[in-house]
Amino acid sequence: MSRVYNFSAGPAMLPVDVLKEAADEMLDYRGCGMSVMEMSHRSAVYGDIINEAEADLRKLMNIPDNYKVLFMQGGASTQFAMVPMNFMKNKKAGYIITGQWAKKAYAEAKIYGEAVELASSADKTFSYIPDCSDLPVTDDMDYVYICENNTIYGTKFKELPDTKGKDLIADVSSCFLSEPVDVSKYAMLYAGAQKNVGPAGVVIAIIREDLITDDVLAGTPTMLKYKTHADNGSMYNTPPAYAIYICGKVFKWLLKTGGLEKRKEINEYKAKILYDYLDQSQLFKGTVEKESRSLMNVPFVTGDKDLDALFVKEAKAAGFENLKGHRTVGGMRASIYNAMPVEGVQALVDFMKKFEEVHHV
Ligand SMILES: *Cc1c(COP(=O)(O)O)cnc(C)c1O
Repeated sequence: MSRVYNFSAGPAMLPVDVLKEAADEMLDYRGCGMSVMEMSHRSAVYGDIINEAEADLRKLMNIPDNYKVLFMQGGASTQFAMVPMNFMKNKKAGYIITGQWAKKAYAEAKIYGEAVELASSADKTFSYIPDCSDLPVTDDMDYVYICENNTIYGTKFKELPDTKGKDLIADVSSCFLSEPVDVSKYAMLYAGAQKNVGPAGVVIAIIREDLITDDVLAGTPTMLKYKTHADNGSMYNTPPAYAIYICGKVFKWLLKTGGLEKRKEINEYKAKILYDYLDQSQLFKGTVEKESRSLMNVPFVTGDKDLDALFVKEAKAAGFENLKGHRTVGGMRASIYNAMPVEGVQALVDFMKKFEEVHHV
């Protein structure tokens, strides 16, 4: 068996310990004689799996009691519609546009009401996080929406926007569990699991309880009401049972390896290895303003498309997979989520140095 260093933005690397444990339990989950994939989600055994996953996540993130944890399907993209359907009571909300995912959420919200662009970094191809200290938030807005870590452009909010008292809703898909967060500062945060947590197919939402009501936009389907999922312990219908099981293992792995404080330390250390090299390289350049740099997604370019393509090709041959930048931006992107070991980032930088020696004239 040989494993590559996989820099994919998602689905992405998972901790080897988690994969091994899942492999051990594949044919016979703890004496049940069946895989978790084959199990009724209404069984007591599965009940323990999902309850433990929630309890571990609550411990890991210190989630206050007045917040619900929901495991749902449809990916982060379904949340782009569920958020306005459930929360746009005045049919007006503010959106901060920091990249593709924020733009998509904004476009979706416009289907249901008035979505107002509060700030944007489109003027410089989303290479920074705009100043959000004095946004034109109005009293009639139901919420303020952000994409906290911009997977494609490699930027991250280092400070949450001043929402002027309005509820903050955040898509944290690509920074979920990468560092501690104060959940109480959000009305809702949500993440598609396949970036930093687990397999595709499950999205995890953490929502302040008082927001979960039957008072949703007319015509909202049952499955798209948060209340449906909250009232049924994420089991109104068959949940993405196996994906939740793997997420649960990742939560345990994070708890066992020092929790989110420790994780932040490791993630900062890893990102610094790459950014420090980019800052002094004569060939490679980071594309993001320093103050806005993501710890998770690191885009960079040589400035020459052909050389970028050659780098991606040679890197792949050397065991560094999925370094090609998003199709909309080109260049390269290294996604260095929780499960990417320090050695993976160090090995990538060593490889980049050698490439630079040959190709920088
Ligand atoms: C990947 C991603 C999405 C879309 O996730 P899907 O699960 O594919 O719908 C949304 N937001 C962010 C920040 C992402 O990184």
